[in-house]
Amino acid sequence: MKVCERQLGIIQKIVDAPGPSGFEDEVLKVAREAASWMPRIEEDAMRNLFLYRKEHDGSKPVVMLDAHSDEVGFVVHSIKPSGCLRFVPDGGWSTSGLPSSKVLVRNALGEYIPGIIALKPVHFMTQAERAGGNIEISSLVIDIGATSRQEAIEKFHIRIGEPVVPSAKFEYDEKNDLMFGKAFDCRIGCAALIETLRRLDGLDLPFDVVGVLSAQEEVGERGCKVAVNKVKPAIAIAFEGCPADDTFTEPYAIQTALKKGPMIRHLDRSIICSPRFQRYTLDLAAEKGLAIQESVREGGGNNGAVIQTALDGTPVIVAGVPVRYIHTMNCITSYFDYEATVQLAVEVIKSLTPEIVKGF
Ligand SMILES: [Zn+2]
Repeated sequence: MKVCERQLGIIQKIVDAPGPSGFEDEVLKVAREAASWMPRIEEDAMRNLFLYRKEHDGSKPVVMLDAHSDEVGFVVHSIKPSGCLRFVPDGGWSTSGLPSSKVLVRNALGEYIPGIIALKPVHFMTQAERAGGNIEISSLVIDIGATSRQEAIEKFHIRIGEPVVPSAKFEYDEKNDLMFGKAFDCRIGCAALIETLRRLDGLDLPFDVVGVLSAQEEVGERGCKVAVNKVKPAIAIAFEGCPADDTFTEPYAIQTALKKGPMIRHLDRSIICSPRFQRYTLDLAAEKGLAIQESVREGGGNNGAVIQTALDGTPVIVAGVPVRYIHTMNCITSYFDYEATVQLAVEVIKSLTPEIVKGF
């Protein structure tokens, strides 16, 4: 498989950009640059980013491509007398994986400064604390190395309400085609969305295609709720970075493995992906020989549910790039899966006609 340096560069920049829910500005800066050839780019007050083709004039039905730009992070809650920071989650985390993680805290100067999520050291724990069990997030702090509250404020310029993100930096192991980093949920989807638009550029389609990088998905699909009313899609594809299950699931039940192509979910807790559109996509992939996986998720939720139930109801599929350990500090995905997701989306969009969509 050939890796495109330009696309890899975009993936690296967009994955590394800090942007937990509500603080997507840096991500959108990268996206605007990566999609600078688009004739029209708009942003709303939610920090949703809209990418429009030149034929966006309301004369054609719209295919909406959605990917959420936010990642799971934290927000500074308060500053303790010790100079350590209390924090609240911004999106869903399992607290057991947090202690000893390196993070970046935005300060009042807009700089992201390093810190470590800390739990009381084992040497000072009581017997009961040592036995472990559930860790309350309120018992964790972010230690930025300050020696007092005053120093945290005056020297480190910490203030409450500021975002915190994992500090993991993107790495690509070319030999094994493995991408390591944070925030592949859903930045790998954002990169796939932008590349899909690029490959459709200049094609005469019976649809207008609008790309949306939507904000605040991780806290309840808030950006998408606004974006869908603006875009008014006739049909939609929601891109995702979705949880891979291949390292801890019985082989017979693996449905989202690394390097097996995009995961097209039949359902999760939020949506039954439009079954006719879903079947059409699976059949098309089989006909074209495209890598694809199908899953029935026991948990989860995504923007597709918001799009499907908006307006008069919209056919939706969700195309997820498998990512191992999403919603943790360090995740793994592959360029192969990214590329296969773009290929699938491009083929689906190229094949659709308004008549076919009516049948969904
Ligand atoms: Zn996601």
